[in-house]
Amino acid sequence: MIQIKDLHKSYQMGSNSLHVLKGIDFNVKEGELVSIMGSSGSGKSTLLNILGMLDEADQGSYTLDNVPIKNLNEKIAAQYRNKFLGFIFQSFNLINYKNALDNVAMPLYYQGMKRAERTDKAMHYLEKVGLAQWATHLPSEMSGGQKQRVAIARALASDPKVLLADEPTGALDTTTSYEVMELIQGINDEGKTILVVTHEPDIAEMTKRIVNLKDGRIIDDRPVNQILAKSHV
Ligand code: ADP
Ligand code: MG
Repeated sequence: MIQIKDLHKSYQMGSNSLHVLKGIDFNVKEGELVSIMGSSGSGKSTLLNILGMLDEADQGSYTLDNVPIKNLNEKIAAQYRNKFLGFIFQSFNLINYKNALDNVAMPLYYQGMKRAERTDKAMHYLEKVGLAQWATHLPSEMSGGQKQRVAIARALASDPKVLLADEPTGALDTTTSYEVMELIQGINDEGKTILVVTHEPDIAEMTKRIVNLKDGRIIDDRPVNQILAKSHV
């Protein structure tokens, strides 16, 4: 589903250049649940933004569902983004003046879907995350965990090939974090390919494979069951 090869990224700050990604190689197969783990500043969000076509690498190649992602104009990039990718953020990024149902229906509106069909679909995904009764509530009336569930429903609404989550539990308490990760596990069980960025080992261990990033390089990439087996010896 995802193939990246020798990805490099630097940020220019005045006359200085900060080399953030220093040659990243990895592949993600359809149906995987992978975490990208690393301390703050290790380049996790930079990598996820490139995978999400929100930013471009300076060097290296990226193929998403057999489509080479390179030098696309903004219109094509936006089309691919809407078709292939669903995003989940630490701060939920819901629209505050729209209720839960309308938030979930937003991506469908941009796909040109008719209102009745949008509403049906959005309701279906709200049910899926256990929030059908909250459809007409505003984000300000919901807990952090509920808001993240709405955001997950929104990310699923356009049935993307890949879900990209940047610190999805970063703003949540421990119990709620585990609940959100269990929801993500359930979505993966149904076949969705999911990448979760986190700096928390406990959260990473709720995925199936941990890619460990340090100073812009992958220092470890293994299935979780191997890592856990070793740490319990
Ligand atoms: P992480 O998500 O792992 O915390 P980031 O990818 O956000 O790391 O950032 C990696 C490094 O790049 C950090 O040192 C950060 O300050 C820097 N950085 C991130 N985005 C920008 C930007 N737009 N301009 C300049 N520097 C940036
Ligand atoms: Mg980050």
